Amino acid sequence: MLKSFPKGGIHPPDNKISAGAATSVLPLPATVTVPLSQHIGAPAVAEVVKGDNVLVGQLIAKPGGFVSAAIHSPVSGTVLAVEPVAGASGVKGMAVTIRVDGDEWETSIDRSTTLVTDCGQMDPSAIIAKIAAAGIVGMGGATFPTQVKLSPPPGKKADTLIINGVECEPYLTSDHRVMLERTAETLVGVGLLARALGVSNIYIGVENNKPDAIEALRRTVGDLVRFLPPIEIVPLKVQYPQGGEKQLVKAVTGREVPSGALPIEVGCVVQNVGTALAIYEAVHKNKPLIERVVTVTGKGIARPSNFLVRMGTPVSALIEAAGGLPQDAGKVIGGGPMMGRAMSNIDAPVTKGTSGIVVMSGREAARRTETDCIKCGGCVTVCPMGLEPYLLARLAQKQRWDESEAGGVTDCIECGSCSYTCPARVPLLDWIRLGKAEVGRIIRARLNC
Ligand code: SF4
Ligand code: SF4
Repeated sequence: MLKSFPKGGIHPPDNKISAGAATSVLPLPATVTVPLSQHIGAPAVAEVVKGDNVLVGQLIAKPGGFVSAAIHSPVSGTVLAVEPVAGASGVKGMAVTIRVDGDEWETSIDRSTTLVTDCGQMDPSAIIAKIAAAGIVGMGGATFPTQVKLSPPPGKKADTLIINGVECEPYLTSDHRVMLERTAETLVGVGLLARALGVSNIYIGVENNKPDAIEALRRTVGDLVRFLPPIEIVPLKVQYPQGGEKQLVKAVTGREVPSGALPIEVGCVVQNVGTALAIYEAVHKNKPLIERVVTVTGKGIARPSNFLVRMGTPVSALIEAAGGLPQDAGKVIGGGPMMGRAMSNIDAPVTKGTSGIVVMSGREAARRTETDCIKCGGCVTVCPMGLEPYLLARLAQKQRWDESEAGGVTDCIECGSCSYTCPARVPLLDWIRLGKAEVGRIIRARLNC
């Protein structure tokens, strides 16, 4: 019996049409636009001004607070501007725009592919310091600064590290390619994470629809057995949203993360496979987070692909490299179709949290006509958080925020299972997101932060 989470869940078609596409390096664009807010927390603060020359890997923005992340230049070139630029939603945010003049890297970065296997000797605080200096954030899309996640608050102690290799979002395959193509480096990164946390229970959860990744991880754990701590590869049932942090903790350890709490409450820290690879590169190669693997896919895309992309590259350049926008394109989504967000500006840049770009046809993207709720209870049955989505949506429509909070709207993980299931096509997630944002604002005001 494969492990899974016990409550709710759905089985959308996985459409992993880019799974067999080996990662290829996307050519450098003419300019990159590097947002100063690519992470949860305070925006970074620019360290460069118009006219400065920068190298690949050079620090261009310092963390703007405790929960923030450093940002490094993904290219070598000339700073054209430090000014607000429109992001994926069209909303402007501060960014550094750099004209690409070449590809000269900081000399401190080791660009060799020689595998460094050490993960049991380094001082944990030195590992965390390197992670912070490299600007690493959660690369599964959450973008929480990793050094903060590795420093539990007073009174909390981790005993278990879970690496998220689930990639349960339909279409996306970037994590799958990382597990297949960068297996050894990723596993050393896992060892470094375990060393930083001081834990010995280490698991990598992978959905069972990636047998080649499971096999590669198990084989490489065997090959590197002299260097790595014991790591258990856990095949998981294919069930969305298996990659949700709370669902993954429950599936792998049986522990239940309480409402409103984080996995550290039950002794667990969850990190994405891409983050583990970035940690290997930061610690052993001195390489900051300047590039990542991005899936570009969709049924109308001529060449569904996985690209290694420098941050700041326009999304339109990735789509072009995958064969261009199909004539019937109706919607471009940043992230997967379940949890991603529609992009209104495809010239927006790739950022640290961009795992994929999914292009839907007009027919796929069309909103089907909403009808009245038929009280079937389907949305309640599939909710993995045990919420009542029909009720939360109605409370948001009526702006009844106290009742929304009491109903647990802030526990919603925005998985979209309720909207996917609803036979009446009620846009449940849209309403619940609205309610969650408003209740979050009220709670922050109440706490005076
Ligand atoms: S209410 Fe939130 S957590 Fe529950 S199914 Fe809907 S989107 Fe997912
Ligand atoms: S799934 Fe849709 S129709 Fe069924 S109870 Fe929920 S909101 Fe109503």
